[in-house]
Amino acid sequence: MVHDFTQPLRVEDVPKPEPGAGEVVVKIEASGLCHTDIHAAHGDWPVKPKLPLIPGHEGVGIVESVGQGVTEAKEGERVAVPWLGYACGACEYCASGWETLCEKQLNTGYLIDGGHAEYSKAFAKYVGRVPEGIHPFEAAPLTCAGVTTYKAVKVAGTRPSDLVAVFGAGGLGHLAIQYARIAGAAVVAVDLFDEKLRLAKDLGAEYTVNAREQDPVEEIKKLGGADAVIATAVSPKAFEQGFGSLKRGGTLVFVGLPKDNEVRLPIFETVLSGIHVVGSIVGTRVDLQEVFELHAMGRTRVVHEERSLEEVNEAIEEVEEGKVDARVVFDMGVEEPSRRPEGLLTQEAEQPSEQPTGEVGEHRGPIPG
Ligand code: NAD
Ligand code: ZN
Ligand code: ZN
Repeated sequence: MVHDFTQPLRVEDVPKPEPGAGEVVVKIEASGLCHTDIHAAHGDWPVKPKLPLIPGHEGVGIVESVGQGVTEAKEGERVAVPWLGYACGACEYCASGWETLCEKQLNTGYLIDGGHAEYSKAFAKYVGRVPEGIHPFEAAPLTCAGVTTYKAVKVAGTRPSDLVAVFGAGGLGHLAIQYARIAGAAVVAVDLFDEKLRLAKDLGAEYTVNAREQDPVEEIKKLGGADAVIATAVSPKAFEQGFGSLKRGGTLVFVGLPKDNEVRLPIFETVLSGIHVVGSIVGTRVDLQEVFELHAMGRTRVVHEERSLEEVNEAIEEVEEGKVDARVVFDMGVEEPSRRPEGLLTQEAEQPSEQPTGEVGEHRGPIPG
């Protein structure tokens, strides 16, 4: 629980949520730690989260109870509670397949309580269904890191002949690499840590650049320049280097959300090179189901380290210091059999190498996940 942006998080007892009309209560099995949770805990962004706050928007678990009128989820089903906790369903964005831009949206683990808890309350219409055969510890990172980078690769218009540069090979980046590969592109991964780059290679990146040792712009230009850059790094410098790495006509997709909220991009080069710069925010419910389908088919690999919720502050430090293999997932200590045997369900990649605040009607600008 976050009480104050300058204090460590506290694990504490809170009343168990009860589902209202249209809501479900989920017994959480696994909850992924997204870097967004860290931004939320520090109050890094222009739009602040509610306080006190239970963060987490990669919570996966079993529906324990359903409120009045719920038809979308049943007790006993495994669901995922994503960043897009609620959208109005009726505005021009919702109606045109851009529910992630809905101005009335409520974001899990930011404006409503999230998944780093034993129980989480969610709007039934916005939970994702986790297909049979996906382990909750793998479903958790897919619920934000997966859907976000899957969407970013789509937004980049990635084609088989492309070179895609993924800046930041962390929680989001390790999945971005895989989706770009699935789209048929060759991938160059850029990070500051050799271990992350080794993992990137294992996951299918053809090239890697350690930005502490080499200039990514120069290295990527040597490869002919990138058709698309997916910027997931928590550093504006990486966004600027990403811009510099693009080929003419290329697309820079802003995904990461560093506290330092500005980049300097040259107008002249953008115009003459016909560069596209586009922001990409999580993904829709359909994107999330597609991400789960790909994983169920064995086409993605989710790399994670398990921790108990008591270790939340240490885990945050480790992520900030770049010491984590891709994603930390909190194990909420739910006993088998609701969890399935790991060996059966851990699939190798094909390529070797919250609680509502009652303010639903209030105007809320879309903010990032
Ligand atoms: P992460 O900490 O797991 O990964 C970030 C990676 O960037 C790390 O591997 C780090 O070493 C690397 N990095 C840092 N500085 C770099 C630099 N200068 N050059 C190259 N690599 C560098 O974090 P994450 O969970 O993957 O989240 C990344 C960012 O994306 C966060 O800011 C988060 O808030 C944001 N995010 C955005 C969305 C969205 O919808 N747009 C969704 C989820 C997360
Ligand atoms: Zn809407
Ligand atoms: Zn996230």
